[in-house]
Amino acid sequence: MVGAAAALALSQAGFDVRLLERGAAPPMPGADYDLRVYAIAPSSAALLSDLGIWQALPGDRLCAYQGMRVWESAPERGLNFGAADVGENQLGWIAEQVQLLAALWRQLPPGVARPNTPVNDAVFADGALLKLADGELQARLVVAAEGAGSPLRERAGIVTAEREYRQLALVAHVQTREPHRGLALQRFLPGGPLAFLPLADGRRSIVWSLPAEQARRVHALSDDDFHRALAAAVQFETGTILRSTARTLFPLRLMHATEYVRDALALIGDSAHVIHPLAGQGVNLGLADVAELRRVLVEARAQRLDWAGLRVLRRYERARKAANLEMLALTDLLDRAFRTRIPGLPRLLDAGLAMLDRAAPAKQALIRRALA
Ligand SMILES: Cc1cc2nc3c(=O)[nH]c(=O)nc-3n(C[C@H](O)[C@H](O)[C@H](O)COP(=O)(O)OP(=O)(O)OC[C@H]3O[C@@H](n4cnc5c(N)ncnc54)[C@H](O)[C@@H]3O)c2cc1C
Repeated sequence: MVGAAAALALSQAGFDVRLLERGAAPPMPGADYDLRVYAIAPSSAALLSDLGIWQALPGDRLCAYQGMRVWESAPERGLNFGAADVGENQLGWIAEQVQLLAALWRQLPPGVARPNTPVNDAVFADGALLKLADGELQARLVVAAEGAGSPLRERAGIVTAEREYRQLALVAHVQTREPHRGLALQRFLPGGPLAFLPLADGRRSIVWSLPAEQARRVHALSDDDFHRALAAAVQFETGTILRSTARTLFPLRLMHATEYVRDALALIGDSAHVIHPLAGQGVNLGLADVAELRRVLVEARAQRLDWAGLRVLRRYERARKAANLEMLALTDLLDRAFRTRIPGLPRLLDAGLAMLDRAAPAKQALIRRALA
Protein backbone atom coordinates (compact mmCIF):
# COMPACT_ATOMS: atom_id res chain seq x y z
CA MET A 1 0.00 0.00 0.00
CA VAL A 2 2.74 2.47 0.95
CA GLY A 3 4.84 1.54 -2.10
CA ALA A 4 1.85 1.85 -4.44
CA ALA A 5 1.01 5.26 -2.95
CA ALA A 6 4.62 6.38 -3.43
CA ALA A 7 4.65 5.16 -7.04
CA LEU A 8 1.46 7.09 -7.78
CA ALA A 9 2.55 10.25 -5.93
CA LEU A 10 5.94 10.36 -7.65
CA SER A 11 4.65 9.55 -11.13
CA GLN A 12 1.99 12.26 -10.76
CA ALA A 13 4.83 14.62 -9.77
CA GLY A 14 6.51 13.89 -13.11
CA PHE A 15 9.12 11.27 -12.14
CA ASP A 16 9.58 8.20 -14.35
CA VAL A 17 8.53 5.44 -11.91
CA ARG A 18 8.28 1.64 -11.86
CA LEU A 19 6.43 -0.18 -9.08
CA LEU A 20 8.07 -3.60 -8.69
CA GLU A 21 5.78 -5.93 -6.72
CA ARG A 22 6.82 -9.46 -5.81
CA GLY A 23 3.20 -10.63 -5.60
CA ALA A 24 0.25 -10.51 -7.95
CA ALA A 25 -1.71 -7.34 -8.72
CA PRO A 26 -4.38 -6.71 -6.04
CA PRO A 27 -7.59 -8.65 -6.65
CA MET A 28 -10.79 -6.89 -7.64
CA PRO A 29 -12.65 -6.10 -4.40
CA GLY A 30 -15.65 -8.36 -3.94
CA ALA A 31 -18.86 -8.24 -1.95
CA ASP A 32 -17.15 -9.77 1.11
CA TYR A 33 -15.32 -7.37 3.37
CA ASP A 34 -11.54 -7.70 3.50
CA LEU A 35 -10.36 -8.87 6.92
CA ARG A 36 -7.55 -6.33 6.74
CA VAL A 37 -8.94 -2.90 7.52
CA TYR A 38 -7.10 0.30 8.38
CA ALA A 39 -8.07 3.26 10.51
CA ILE A 40 -7.24 6.07 8.07
CA ALA A 41 -6.38 9.41 9.69
CA PRO A 42 -7.56 12.69 8.09
CA SER A 43 -3.97 13.51 7.04
CA SER A 44 -3.81 10.22 5.08
CA ALA A 45 -7.25 10.84 3.58
CA ALA A 46 -5.96 14.25 2.42
CA LEU A 47 -2.99 12.64 0.65
CA LEU A 48 -5.19 9.95 -0.93
CA SER A 49 -7.60 12.63 -2.01
CA ASP A 50 -4.75 14.59 -3.58
CA LEU A 51 -3.81 11.42 -5.50
CA GLY A 52 -7.39 11.00 -6.74
CA ILE A 53 -7.90 7.78 -4.74
CA TRP A 54 -10.19 8.84 -1.93
CA GLN A 55 -12.90 9.98 -4.36
CA ALA A 56 -12.63 6.64 -6.21
CA LEU A 57 -13.40 4.49 -3.14
CA PRO A 58 -16.95 3.16 -2.89
CA GLY A 59 -18.56 5.41 -0.28
CA ASP A 60 -20.74 2.62 1.06
CA ARG A 61 -17.63 0.68 2.17
CA LEU A 62 -15.98 3.54 4.08
CA CYS A 63 -16.99 4.04 7.70
CA ALA A 64 -16.37 7.44 9.26
CA TYR A 65 -15.96 7.24 13.03
CA GLN A 66 -16.88 10.16 15.22
CA GLY A 67 -15.79 8.96 18.62
CA MET A 68 -13.41 6.70 20.49
CA ARG A 69 -13.62 5.29 24.01
CA VAL A 70 -10.45 4.05 25.70
CA TRP A 71 -10.48 2.37 29.09
CA GLU A 72 -8.89 -0.14 31.38
CA SER A 73 -11.00 -1.11 34.41
CA ALA A 74 -14.49 0.11 33.42
CA PRO A 75 -15.89 1.96 30.36
CA GLU A 76 -17.38 4.75 32.50
CA ARG A 77 -13.92 5.50 33.92
CA GLY A 78 -12.36 5.79 30.46
CA LEU A 79 -11.29 8.51 28.09
CA ASN A 80 -13.85 9.61 25.48
CA PHE A 81 -12.67 11.34 22.33
CA GLY A 82 -15.24 13.01 20.10
CA ALA A 83 -14.71 14.69 16.73
CA ALA A 84 -17.20 17.33 17.87
CA ASP A 85 -14.85 18.25 20.77
CA VAL A 86 -12.57 19.84 18.18
CA GLY A 87 -15.23 20.96 15.69
CA GLU A 88 -14.62 18.12 13.22
CA ASN A 89 -17.11 15.73 11.62
CA GLN A 90 -15.01 12.59 12.15
CA LEU A 91 -11.81 11.33 13.75
CA GLY A 92 -11.03 9.15 10.75
CA TRP A 93 -12.37 6.37 8.54
CA ILE A 94 -12.17 2.59 8.56
CA ALA A 95 -11.26 1.36 5.06
CA GLU A 96 -10.46 -2.07 3.63
CA GLN A 97 -6.94 -2.76 2.45
CA VAL A 98 -8.13 -4.41 -0.79
CA GLN A 99 -10.27 -1.37 -1.73
CA LEU A 100 -7.37 1.01 -1.17
CA LEU A 101 -4.88 -1.16 -3.04
CA ALA A 102 -7.19 -1.71 -6.00
CA ALA A 103 -7.92 2.03 -6.24
CA LEU A 104 -4.20 2.88 -6.10
CA TRP A 105 -3.25 0.38 -8.81
CA ARG A 106 -6.15 1.50 -11.03
CA GLN A 107 -4.91 5.07 -10.86
CA LEU A 108 -1.29 4.25 -11.82
CA PRO A 109 -0.37 5.33 -15.37
CA PRO A 110 0.01 2.40 -17.82
CA GLY A 111 3.38 0.63 -17.61
CA VAL A 112 4.23 1.77 -14.07
CA ALA A 113 3.10 -1.31 -12.12
CA ARG A 114 4.97 -4.56 -12.65
CA PRO A 115 3.35 -7.36 -10.61
CA ASN A 116 5.11 -10.72 -10.10
CA THR A 117 8.44 -8.90 -10.24
CA PRO A 118 10.53 -9.61 -7.14
CA VAL A 119 13.66 -7.55 -6.69
CA ASN A 120 16.28 -10.27 -6.15
CA ASP A 121 19.29 -8.09 -5.45
CA ALA A 122 20.62 -4.57 -5.84
CA VAL A 123 23.97 -2.90 -6.35
CA PHE A 124 24.30 0.68 -5.15
CA ALA A 125 26.98 2.53 -7.09
CA ASP A 126 26.29 5.59 -9.21
CA GLY A 127 22.54 5.11 -8.68
CA ALA A 128 21.14 1.61 -8.25
CA LEU A 129 21.13 -1.51 -10.36
CA LEU A 130 18.23 -3.82 -9.48
CA LYS A 131 18.45 -7.51 -10.34
CA LEU A 132 15.14 -8.92 -11.53
CA ALA A 133 14.30 -12.45 -12.72
CA ASP A 134 14.17 -11.27 -16.34
CA GLY A 135 17.05 -8.81 -16.35
CA GLU A 136 18.27 -5.65 -14.67
CA LEU A 137 16.85 -2.21 -14.06
CA GLN A 138 18.97 0.90 -13.63
CA ALA A 139 17.46 3.57 -11.37
CA ARG A 140 18.59 6.90 -10.02
CA LEU A 141 16.66 6.32 -6.79
CA VAL A 142 15.17 3.20 -5.19
CA VAL A 143 12.32 3.72 -2.74
CA ALA A 144 12.16 0.56 -0.60
CA ALA A 145 8.62 -0.21 0.59
CA GLU A 146 8.98 -3.96 1.02
CA GLY A 147 7.55 -4.18 4.52
CA ALA A 148 9.24 -5.16 7.77
CA GLY A 149 11.69 -7.71 6.38
CA SER A 150 13.02 -5.28 3.72
CA PRO A 151 15.77 -7.10 1.73
CA LEU A 152 16.95 -3.79 0.20
CA ARG A 153 17.42 -2.33 3.69
CA GLU A 154 19.57 -5.33 4.58
CA ARG A 155 21.45 -5.18 1.28
CA ALA A 156 22.35 -1.56 2.07
CA GLY A 157 23.62 -2.68 5.50
CA ILE A 158 21.18 -0.48 7.43
CA VAL A 159 20.95 -1.61 11.03
CA THR A 160 17.61 -1.88 12.85
CA ALA A 161 16.48 -1.80 16.48
CA GLU A 162 13.96 -4.59 17.01
CA ARG A 163 11.90 -6.28 19.68
CA GLU A 164 9.42 -9.12 19.39
CA TYR A 165 6.26 -8.36 21.36
CA ARG A 166 5.63 -12.09 21.86
CA GLN A 167 2.03 -11.10 21.18
CA LEU A 168 -0.20 -12.07 18.29
CA ALA A 169 -3.03 -9.87 17.07
CA LEU A 170 -6.24 -11.78 16.43
CA VAL A 171 -8.33 -10.12 13.72
CA ALA A 172 -11.98 -10.83 12.78
CA HIS A 173 -15.19 -9.01 11.89
CA VAL A 174 -18.06 -9.45 14.33
CA GLN A 175 -21.75 -8.64 14.52
CA THR A 176 -22.66 -7.22 17.92
CA ARG A 177 -26.09 -6.78 19.49
CA GLU A 178 -25.49 -3.06 20.15
CA PRO A 179 -24.99 -0.87 17.04
CA HIS A 180 -21.58 0.82 16.91
CA ARG A 181 -22.95 4.34 16.29
CA GLY A 182 -19.63 5.36 14.71
CA LEU A 183 -17.72 4.72 17.93
CA ALA A 184 -14.34 2.94 18.11
CA LEU A 185 -13.56 1.14 21.37
CA GLN A 186 -10.25 0.17 22.92
CA ARG A 187 -9.78 -1.63 26.20
CA PHE A 188 -6.34 -2.14 27.69
CA LEU A 189 -6.17 -5.64 29.17
CA PRO A 190 -3.29 -7.28 31.05
CA GLY A 191 -2.57 -9.45 27.98
CA GLY A 192 -2.69 -6.55 25.49
CA PRO A 193 -5.16 -4.08 23.98
CA LEU A 194 -8.49 -5.06 22.39
CA ALA A 195 -9.95 -2.72 19.74
CA PHE A 196 -13.38 -2.66 18.09
CA LEU A 197 -13.51 -0.59 14.89
CA PRO A 198 -16.83 0.27 13.23
CA LEU A 199 -17.51 -1.04 9.70
CA ALA A 200 -19.84 0.53 7.14
CA ASP A 201 -22.18 -2.50 7.11
CA GLY A 202 -22.83 -2.18 10.86
CA ARG A 203 -20.40 -4.89 11.94
CA ARG A 204 -17.18 -4.22 13.83
CA SER A 205 -13.63 -5.26 13.11
CA ILE A 206 -11.65 -6.44 16.11
CA VAL A 207 -7.91 -6.40 16.75
CA TRP A 208 -7.19 -8.35 19.94
CA SER A 209 -3.52 -8.40 20.94
CA LEU A 210 -2.73 -11.32 23.23
CA PRO A 211 0.32 -13.23 24.47
CA ALA A 212 1.12 -15.74 21.72
CA GLU A 213 -0.04 -18.89 23.56
CA GLN A 214 -3.31 -17.31 24.69
CA ALA A 215 -3.93 -15.94 21.18
CA ARG A 216 -3.62 -19.44 19.72
CA ARG A 217 -6.06 -20.76 22.32
CA VAL A 218 -8.61 -18.01 21.57
CA HIS A 219 -8.10 -18.58 17.84
CA ALA A 220 -9.01 -22.26 18.29
CA LEU A 221 -12.18 -21.66 20.37
CA SER A 222 -15.59 -22.65 19.04
CA ASP A 223 -17.65 -19.70 17.75
CA ASP A 224 -19.88 -19.68 20.86
CA ASP A 225 -16.94 -19.76 23.28
CA PHE A 226 -15.13 -17.08 21.25
CA HIS A 227 -18.18 -14.82 21.29
CA ARG A 228 -18.56 -15.22 25.07
CA ALA A 229 -14.85 -14.56 25.71
CA LEU A 230 -14.86 -11.49 23.46
CA ALA A 231 -18.01 -9.96 24.96
CA ALA A 232 -16.59 -10.45 28.46
CA ALA A 233 -13.22 -8.96 27.47
CA VAL A 234 -14.96 -5.76 26.28
CA GLN A 235 -17.12 -5.81 29.41
CA PHE A 236 -20.33 -6.24 27.36
CA GLU A 237 -19.97 -2.69 26.04
CA THR A 238 -21.03 -4.02 22.61
CA GLY A 239 -23.77 -6.31 23.95
CA THR A 240 -23.50 -9.97 23.07
CA ILE A 241 -21.53 -11.02 20.00
CA LEU A 242 -24.00 -12.55 17.55
CA ARG A 243 -21.79 -13.72 14.67
CA SER A 244 -18.18 -13.58 13.53
CA THR A 245 -16.04 -14.27 10.48
CA ALA A 246 -12.99 -16.54 10.37
CA ARG A 247 -10.16 -15.34 12.65
CA THR A 248 -6.59 -14.56 11.56
CA LEU A 249 -3.46 -14.09 13.66
CA PHE A 250 -0.71 -11.52 12.93
CA PRO A 251 2.67 -11.52 14.70
CA LEU A 252 3.54 -8.21 16.36
CA ARG A 253 6.96 -6.64 16.57
CA LEU A 254 8.62 -3.31 16.96
CA MET A 255 11.28 -2.27 14.48
CA HIS A 256 13.04 0.96 13.63
CA ALA A 257 15.76 1.48 11.03
CA THR A 258 18.66 3.52 12.37
CA GLU A 259 18.96 5.21 8.95
CA TYR A 260 16.21 5.80 6.38
CA VAL A 261 18.44 6.84 3.49
CA ARG A 262 21.63 6.10 1.61
CA ASP A 263 22.83 7.44 -1.72
CA ALA A 264 20.09 6.41 -4.22
CA LEU A 265 17.99 4.66 -1.53
CA ALA A 266 15.09 5.79 0.68
CA LEU A 267 13.14 3.54 3.05
CA ILE A 268 9.43 4.21 3.57
CA GLY A 269 6.57 2.53 5.45
CA ASP A 270 7.17 -0.70 7.34
CA SER A 271 10.62 -1.03 5.72
CA ALA A 272 11.66 1.86 7.97
CA HIS A 273 9.39 1.42 11.03
CA VAL A 274 7.01 -1.18 12.43
CA ILE A 275 4.85 -0.21 15.38
CA HIS A 276 2.27 -1.85 17.63
CA PRO A 277 -1.16 -1.68 15.95
CA LEU A 278 -2.86 -0.34 19.09
CA ALA A 279 -3.02 3.20 17.72
CA GLY A 280 -3.88 2.08 14.15
CA GLN A 281 -1.06 4.23 12.79
CA GLY A 282 1.27 1.98 10.73
CA VAL A 283 -0.08 2.82 7.30
CA ASN A 284 -0.72 6.42 8.31
CA LEU A 285 2.96 6.86 9.16
CA GLY A 286 3.88 5.23 5.84
CA LEU A 287 1.62 7.60 3.90
CA ALA A 288 3.13 10.56 5.77
CA ASP A 289 6.56 9.27 4.61
CA VAL A 290 5.23 9.32 1.03
CA ALA A 291 3.97 12.90 1.31
CA GLU A 292 7.28 14.10 2.76
CA LEU A 293 9.46 12.22 0.26
CA ARG A 294 7.45 13.68 -2.63
CA ARG A 295 7.79 17.19 -1.15
CA VAL A 296 11.56 16.85 -0.72
CA LEU A 297 12.18 15.36 -4.18
CA VAL A 298 10.00 17.90 -6.00
CA GLU A 299 11.65 20.80 -4.17
CA ALA A 300 15.16 19.49 -4.88
CA ARG A 301 14.35 18.94 -8.56
CA ALA A 302 13.05 22.51 -8.82
CA GLN A 303 16.31 23.72 -7.26
CA ARG A 304 18.27 21.60 -9.76
CA LEU A 305 19.89 19.62 -6.94
CA ASP A 306 20.86 15.95 -7.13
CA TRP A 307 17.51 14.72 -5.81
CA ALA A 308 18.69 11.10 -5.43
CA GLY A 309 21.78 12.07 -3.46
CA LEU A 310 22.29 11.66 0.25
CA ARG A 311 22.24 15.40 1.04
CA VAL A 312 18.71 15.78 -0.32
CA LEU A 313 17.43 12.46 1.01
CA ARG A 314 18.62 13.39 4.51
CA ARG A 315 15.97 16.15 4.49
CA TYR A 316 13.31 13.45 4.17
CA GLU A 317 14.95 11.39 6.91
CA ARG A 318 15.18 14.30 9.33
CA ALA A 319 11.52 15.19 8.86
CA ARG A 320 10.09 11.69 9.23
CA LYS A 321 12.39 10.00 11.75
CA ALA A 322 11.38 12.20 14.65
CA ALA A 323 7.65 11.87 13.95
CA ASN A 324 7.84 8.10 13.46
CA LEU A 325 9.94 7.58 16.58
CA GLU A 326 7.50 9.62 18.64
CA MET A 327 4.57 7.39 17.61
CA LEU A 328 6.65 4.23 17.99
CA ALA A 329 7.68 5.21 21.52
CA LEU A 330 4.15 6.24 22.51
CA THR A 331 2.50 3.01 21.33
CA ASP A 332 5.25 0.91 22.90
CA LEU A 333 4.97 2.76 26.19
CA LEU A 334 1.18 2.43 26.29
CA ASP A 335 1.28 -1.29 25.55
CA ARG A 336 3.98 -1.92 28.13
CA ALA A 337 2.51 0.32 30.81
CA PHE A 338 -0.87 -1.42 30.81
CA ARG A 339 0.73 -4.87 30.76
CA THR A 340 3.23 -4.16 33.50
CA ARG A 341 3.39 -6.21 36.64
CA ILE A 342 4.58 -3.22 38.69
CA PRO A 343 1.99 -3.19 41.49
CA GLY A 344 -0.41 -0.27 41.24
CA LEU A 345 0.77 1.10 37.88
CA PRO A 346 -2.21 -0.06 35.80
CA ARG A 347 -4.54 1.42 38.45
CA LEU A 348 -2.66 4.71 38.29
CA LEU A 349 -2.97 4.77 34.49
CA ASP A 350 -6.67 3.94 34.84
CA ALA A 351 -7.11 6.96 37.11
CA GLY A 352 -5.06 9.00 34.62
CA LEU A 353 -7.45 8.17 31.76
CA ALA A 354 -10.44 9.27 33.86
CA MET A 355 -8.63 12.49 34.85
CA LEU A 356 -7.65 13.25 31.27
CA ASP A 357 -11.26 12.78 30.24
CA ARG A 358 -12.21 15.70 32.50
CA ALA A 359 -9.32 17.96 31.38
CA ALA A 360 -10.82 19.54 28.26
CA PRO A 361 -7.74 21.43 26.91
CA ALA A 362 -5.42 18.43 27.30
CA LYS A 363 -8.01 16.20 25.69
CA GLN A 364 -8.51 18.58 22.76
CA ALA A 365 -4.73 18.77 22.26
CA LEU A 366 -4.59 14.96 22.16
CA ILE A 367 -7.40 14.75 19.60
CA ARG A 368 -5.76 17.40 17.40
CA ARG A 369 -2.47 15.47 17.60
CA ALA A 370 -4.27 12.26 16.52
CA LEU A 371 -5.92 14.05 13.57
CA ALA A 372 -2.65 15.56 12.28
C1 LIG B 1 -3.33 -6.53 13.17
C2 LIG B 1 -2.86 -5.26 12.53
C3 LIG B 1 -3.72 -4.17 12.42
C4 LIG B 1 -3.29 -2.97 11.84
N1 LIG B 1 -4.16 -1.92 11.76
C5 LIG B 1 -3.74 -0.75 11.23
C6 LIG B 1 -4.62 0.39 11.15
O1 LIG B 1 -5.79 0.35 11.59
N2 LIG B 1 -4.16 1.55 10.60
C7 LIG B 1 -2.87 1.65 10.14
O2 LIG B 1 -2.49 2.73 9.67
N3 LIG B 1 -2.01 0.58 10.20
C8 LIG B 1 -2.41 -0.60 10.73
N4 LIG B 1 -1.55 -1.66 10.78
C9 LIG B 1 -0.18 -1.53 10.24
C10 LIG B 1 -0.15 -1.79 8.75
O3 LIG B 1 -0.69 -3.06 8.46
C11 LIG B 1 1.28 -1.71 8.20
O4 LIG B 1 1.90 -0.55 8.69
C12 LIG B 1 1.23 -1.66 6.67
O5 LIG B 1 0.66 -2.83 6.14
C13 LIG B 1 2.61 -1.46 6.08
O6 LIG B 1 2.46 -1.26 4.70
P1 LIG B 1 3.73 -1.30 3.74
O7 LIG B 1 3.18 -1.04 2.39
O8 LIG B 1 4.81 -0.43 4.26
O9 LIG B 1 4.30 -2.80 3.85
P2 LIG B 1 3.61 -4.17 3.46
O10 LIG B 1 2.13 -4.12 3.59
O11 LIG B 1 4.33 -5.22 4.23
O12 LIG B 1 3.91 -4.33 1.91
C14 LIG B 1 5.17 -4.70 1.42
C15 LIG B 1 5.05 -5.04 -0.07
O13 LIG B 1 6.35 -5.27 -0.63
C16 LIG B 1 6.32 -6.45 -1.42
N5 LIG B 1 7.68 -7.01 -1.43
C17 LIG B 1 8.40 -7.51 -0.38
N6 LIG B 1 9.61 -7.91 -0.77
C18 LIG B 1 9.69 -7.66 -2.09
C19 LIG B 1 10.72 -7.84 -3.06
N7 LIG B 1 11.91 -8.39 -2.76
N8 LIG B 1 10.47 -7.45 -4.34
C20 LIG B 1 9.28 -6.89 -4.68
N9 LIG B 1 8.27 -6.70 -3.80
C21 LIG B 1 8.48 -7.07 -2.52
C22 LIG B 1 5.29 -7.34 -0.74
O14 LIG B 1 4.77 -8.30 -1.61
C23 LIG B 1 4.23 -6.30 -0.31
O15 LIG B 1 3.29 -6.06 -1.32
C24 LIG B 1 -1.95 -2.86 11.36
C25 LIG B 1 -1.08 -3.96 11.47
C26 LIG B 1 -1.52 -5.15 12.05
C27 LIG B 1 -0.56 -6.32 12.17
